[in-house]
Amino acid sequence: MIVILKSDIDKNSPEFKDILEFLENRDNITTRIHKEIGTQQTLTEIYLVGDTASLEKSEIEGLAGVERVVRVSKEYRILGRHRDDSRPTGFDYNGIRFAQDTLNTFAGLCAVDTPEHVEMMMKALKEHGQVCTRMGAYKPRTNPYSFQGHGKDCLSWVFELAGKYGIKVIAMEITHEDHVDEIRDALNQTGNPTGVLLQIGTRNTQNFELLKSVGRQSEFPVLLKRGFGITLVESLNAAEYLASEGNHKVIFGLRGMKTNMGDPHRNFVDFAHVAAVKRLTRMPICIDPSHSVGTRDRAPDGLLDVQHVTAQGVIAGANMILVDFHPVPEKALVDGPQALTLKELPFFLEDVAIAREAYLKRVALAKKALSS
Ligand code: PEP
Ligand code: MN
Repeated sequence: MIVILKSDIDKNSPEFKDILEFLENRDNITTRIHKEIGTQQTLTEIYLVGDTASLEKSEIEGLAGVERVVRVSKEYRILGRHRDDSRPTGFDYNGIRFAQDTLNTFAGLCAVDTPEHVEMMMKALKEHGQVCTRMGAYKPRTNPYSFQGHGKDCLSWVFELAGKYGIKVIAMEITHEDHVDEIRDALNQTGNPTGVLLQIGTRNTQNFELLKSVGRQSEFPVLLKRGFGITLVESLNAAEYLASEGNHKVIFGLRGMKTNMGDPHRNFVDFAHVAAVKRLTRMPICIDPSHSVGTRDRAPDGLLDVQHVTAQGVIAGANMILVDFHPVPEKALVDGPQALTLKELPFFLEDVAIAREAYLKRVALAKKALSS
């Protein structure tokens, strides 16, 4: 059960003390307070665990200072979308809104290689009005002899270049909890020129100790990729691990499932689940067309398969696109064969805008149909 308090309630106010006293005096109930500090207001929620079936929802709703009470189902207590649960989706980070009704594109390098390539990428993004990117520094590779990413050595120059080109958020995969400290240190040393969205990749979706430690910090939001060989429920529970430790700023990423049924694509594209995950949870949903499709193959109509699946995800309401680009794909150290070129950036963005417009029209249509 979640008790949502009136916004901006003071924890020293008599109302707050009375509510806590009321809840703490119940048998077999423990309370946990969560504060969400937003740009407009601070929201306080009290999570009740234990024998909540014995509690009367209306009695708690009658207490001064209580806005609403939500009875949560067992699954995804914090991130889930429960019955009568109209709590807002999403969060703000470094001036960017991430929610189930926004769309942000993160085009960039799968792996950071040279300062020249990173700068060319960021310059192109700025020229096309983009303020987010992807930049892999820590790369989880199948083969131990493959390039493993520059790691912490590249962070400061990547962040400085991001500041130079007005990039506000970089999606960056981490594979170990120490990487969070390395990222924080490099940001501090460079004067925080940008922000970082910590990415947990498909190979670590169920690395519970990593999830717990990343969940214990709330400074950086997290993009959790769906596990490529586990059920959707298992991946959503993995996301809940992050939230259960305190970090509610979680984006859920679809990136295709590993099966040869997906051939000729690298993975079987699962963007039909965009709507399903939005229905089950309040997380913004990211799609990764590059790691899903894995090639630059083009359909007879002139659009790349990567563009087609992107449009499919966006027209279904996706909130974030994580997509590989590279100024010289032949020279990319990781995943060059699936990277789009800088020349293709405006083509890609315009195509996304068409799909987004169509999605918004579909939502308006649904609203009209349901109200008639
Ligand atoms: C990536 O985005 O660079 C990546 C490795 O993705 P995934 O974890 O989905 O394979
Ligand atoms: Mn990759």
